Amino acid sequence: MTFKPSIKEVELVDRNLEKEIYQFVVTMQHQTKCRVVFTKDTHDQLTISELSRLPNVPCPICRNDYTCHCLSRFKDTLEREILARNLIPTA
Ligand SMILES: [Zn+2]
Repeated sequence: MTFKPSIKEVELVDRNLEKEIYQFVVTMQHQTKCRVVFTKDTHDQLTISELSRLPNVPCPICRNDYTCHCLSRFKDTLEREILARNLIPTA
């Protein structure tokens, strides 16, 4: 089975408007959750600087229930989809 991230919910859990750091908890199918941190890159674009799966359920890709980095290959997709939701507050 190929895993494709399907975002169900995105919640802004922390933000630092001054430093422009935004932290989200993303819920995907099968209750897979990950913590995503957006920061601005050198071109003033918001990009994901940190992506880590929360160990609430085993990884949908490798089935490990501890830390793994499988979701990092979906970084670009997640980045696009989260930004498309316009959840990042603009000053
Ligand atoms: Zn994994």
